[in-house]
Amino acid sequence: MEEFITAVTYLLVGLIGLCVGSFLNVVIYRLPNKMSLAKPASHCPQCGYQLKWYDNIPVVSYCILGGKCRSCKKHIPFRYTAVELLNMLLWLACALVFWDESIPYACIAMAVCSIGICVTFIDLEHLIIFDRFQIMLLVLGAASIPFDVHRPWYSHLIGLVAGFAAFWLFAFLGRKMFGREALGGGDVKLVACIGLLLGWEKLLLCILLSSIIASIVLLILRSKRKDEKGREYPFGPFLVLGTAVSMLLGDRLIDWYMGLLSGAV
Ligand SMILES: [Zn+2]
Repeated sequence: MEEFITAVTYLLVGLIGLCVGSFLNVVIYRLPNKMSLAKPASHCPQCGYQLKWYDNIPVVSYCILGGKCRSCKKHIPFRYTAVELLNMLLWLACALVFWDESIPYACIAMAVCSIGICVTFIDLEHLIIFDRFQIMLLVLGAASIPFDVHRPWYSHLIGLVAGFAAFWLFAFLGRKMFGREALGGGDVKLVACIGLLLGWEKLLLCILLSSIIASIVLLILRSKRKDEKGREYPFGPFLVLGTAVSMLLGDRLIDWYMGLLSGAV
């Protein structure tokens, strides 16, 4: 019986994750273009064809239509399906890691992942992080504190204050030294929210991971496009990636590292 309930839980989490992922596509496309999220109904951006319900089933419709619009046969970017699948996988990972510990925490973690996907894809395309996402993360971070079984409330508070202070100083010094934005104000606020959500220990891990990954990716990009030196790159997506890894695996990674340290002594 217990196995049956577990199977149904994962099935539901996966399916709802897919549907929410489908809605995230709407947010990612419409919010930066200042369009309403509710109206008009989903349509093809090429020919305006209004999608029927059966054209709008996550993943399934994309496969049936062969990645083309039913009306004009123009190519539908794979990104839409990728966002749906990514959201589903992250939701399943959250359920796997947190469900037995605390169901509310698992749900908060799922919401954080979905907001992170929106932040990532909008920042990649438009180099902006909307305040509303940070406000949502701040609320979720505060709500998660009573359900965090691994660390006390003040760890989260230290994460918020220290994250904001460190990145504000970093952005300030960057402006003074290089005369241009090294870090956007959106990144500073995002780090503060992540600090509240994760606590200072996992925030450190998140910053470490995102800086390393960002450095590697930037080195690769720079070596390929030598002509675009003044080009700005978004840091938000790397912070989101670091947050997802720290949130899901942070406690295990920190325990493992501490075990290594105590074993060495
Ligand atoms: Zn079309």
